[in-house]
Amino acid sequence: MNERLVRVSVAVPLYAQFDYLVPQAQKIAAGSRVRVPFGVGHVIGVVTAIDVTADCPTDKLKRIDAVLDSAPLLSADHLAFMRWVASYYHHPPGEVLFAALPLRLRKSENALKVGEAAWQLTEAGLAQAPESLRRAPRQAEILVWMAEQADAAAPKSLLKTALPNSDSVLRALHAKSWLREIDLPPRADKALSRPRGLALNPAQRRALDAVDADFGSFQVSLLDGVTGSGKTEVYLQLTVSALAKDRSVLILVPEISLTPQLFQRFRARLGDTVRVQHSGLSDNEREQVWQRIRLGLSRVLLGTRSAIFNPVPDLGLVIVDEEHDPSFKQTEGFRYSARDLAIVRAKRAACPVVLGSATPSLESLRNVDAGRYRHLRLDERAGGALSPAVDLLNIRGQPLSCGLSEPLLKKIGSTLANGEQVMVFLNRRGYAPVLSCFSCGWVSDCPSCDARQTLHRASGVLWCHHCGAQRRVPSRCLDCGADDLHPLGQGTEQLEDFLAERFADVPLIRIDRDATARKGSLQRQLERLNEPGPALLVGTQMLAKGHHFPRVTLVGVVDADGGLFSADFRATERMAQLLVQVAGRAGRGDRPGHVLIQTRYPDHPLLLTLVREGYRAFAQQALRERAAASMPPYSHQALLRADARHMEDAERFLDQVAAWASEGARQGVEIWGPVPAPMARRAGRHRAHLLFQSPRRDRLHALLDGLPAYAAGLSNVRRIRWALDVDPIDLY
Ligand code: ADP
Ligand code: ZN
Ligand code: ZN
Repeated sequence: MNERLVRVSVAVPLYAQFDYLVPQAQKIAAGSRVRVPFGVGHVIGVVTAIDVTADCPTDKLKRIDAVLDSAPLLSADHLAFMRWVASYYHHPPGEVLFAALPLRLRKSENALKVGEAAWQLTEAGLAQAPESLRRAPRQAEILVWMAEQADAAAPKSLLKTALPNSDSVLRALHAKSWLREIDLPPRADKALSRPRGLALNPAQRRALDAVDADFGSFQVSLLDGVTGSGKTEVYLQLTVSALAKDRSVLILVPEISLTPQLFQRFRARLGDTVRVQHSGLSDNEREQVWQRIRLGLSRVLLGTRSAIFNPVPDLGLVIVDEEHDPSFKQTEGFRYSARDLAIVRAKRAACPVVLGSATPSLESLRNVDAGRYRHLRLDERAGGALSPAVDLLNIRGQPLSCGLSEPLLKKIGSTLANGEQVMVFLNRRGYAPVLSCFSCGWVSDCPSCDARQTLHRASGVLWCHHCGAQRRVPSRCLDCGADDLHPLGQGTEQLEDFLAERFADVPLIRIDRDATARKGSLQRQLERLNEPGPALLVGTQMLAKGHHFPRVTLVGVVDADGGLFSADFRATERMAQLLVQVAGRAGRGDRPGHVLIQTRYPDHPLLLTLVREGYRAFAQQALRERAAASMPPYSHQALLRADARHMEDAERFLDQVAAWASEGARQGVEIWGPVPAPMARRAGRHRAHLLFQSPRRDRLHALLDGLPAYAAGLSNVRRIRWALDVDPIDLY
């Protein structure tokens, strides 16, 4: 036979892979991209195996159109990892595999060159005697300098720094054909040769030594360190260690655009070998970073959750900063947890993985208790800053101005008068969560969701934060026509207006998704905080994310009660983490910090434990409650979501799956539902779900293995959309 068979994954929502014929003479390897005929058109696919045995007669098979990459982009090991991911999350393998490619390579056939654009002297250029160029001294200077370079060539970027302002001269030399443009082969970034680190304190030293000793083998460490305890310094020095062993390092962070300081610290310490991957880069820039990391030319990749799928070679260390952060979980489409996958990757690479947090997730603490993770603790702030004092402020029955009580306002005033900075935290963006008519009781319901539309006064819209629907703020009530519309409750926009008026001469910065939507604006705003003198910061949970504001000494939490009575069993954990993280922004410099938390439930046991005994005590208590109720992390869950135009369709589909799941040998898996989702209508679709839970992961997954095929075969499946969420972190 003079043709071979290859198996190809394409990015479609199907669980199958597809076989194609390739001429025997064609060079092809697993991990390369190909163009293949598919359906009525042609698509890009990735070869996952070669010389396979076809499932159907080979005369039915089509031929590939072309091999797009001369060398495979993904290693056999990485293909195996991605295959494992697809099977664990029970997601179509093609869609999963394409997550390993940068966006541009999913759509465009030609990969960008990784080489560096450079100038090189031509023979004519080399033959010029500089003396003959007396009247063009800059041209002479460049000719002499270029002639001294290896191969008489230099990257354009290097020329920019070595011979500044030489662009027009270079163009002139090019016009005379004395210079030509070439691509130099890519160069590996050099790590800075002697990165200077801080002298570690004993707790940091113990953590560093412990992980240092793990290099070359798999071990999970939970770096459980209060905010400001020097976790980042430990990451930096561990990264130096891994680089010294010529290994690559993968660092996952919740959000990069919010914390450019972290990237700057890594760059300052380690140089260009640190590359960052985030949504702010252009597609071309992302592909360049991806290629440099893949080829080992750059050794440190700092990225958000999707960076977990980068084919980082010679992985020597994985770090997950703020491991408790929910943003590591992808909650749409291909749902995965980058934190959990970081552990799987480290295990496959036989390298240590460090999960860092001031407020570790209950899952990770449970793994510490079970002896699976090593517990490394940093209990004190590095650099001598004290932990802030935390007090609850009872606001039950108190008069409030824009949600703020008199004692909090007084304290804000006195702190500002002292020339110090204040942060006020309210986890609700917009001006007010509801607009209401006081004449007839109309409220700003979203037409397509079981939710209210938030008033955004500055942009003049009512905006649903769930489906994105917007409409102009009406001037009169839509029901009764009365001129009696009023905002109810507060958002950050309103708080900003209020505080700006009250403390008119103090600079005020608002930080939330609306205020920071413009690129770079956050960075510019934050720079103002480095100037001496008082300042006010108002914001949502964005404020809590890892910023270092050394001059903030007072943090006010406007409303702590949201998470206390939620139906979601994870709400209290989230709230405790958020409160501790926000509180951690206070007093990171040389003056002590103070945190005031407003609540109507100052006797709530959770708040009391948190404030009096701290996060650890809270976590132990919460874990006991979870154990008693057999909730995660003491059991494993998967959520089957379905939505449809009519609720009956979604529920009938889930009923059928539930009946199938409870048949036969499915012991050890509980099936709950179907029930309507907590938000039963969203974007005009009716939503319901079915929850599977088991103390044994293998039992749960044995059931899930057959689910997609069964669901796809149901007769009414076309009327619904369904998705499986393995290890869900919320039920919405
Ligand atoms: P975390 O990541 O735990 O919030 P960082 O690593 O950002 O903590 O450290 C907090 C502050 O303490 C930073 O300003 C950092 O430079 C400083 N710091 C960290 N480790 C040390 C040390 N060993 N000696 C002195 N200062 C330190
Ligand atoms: Zn009305
Ligand atoms: Zn809506």
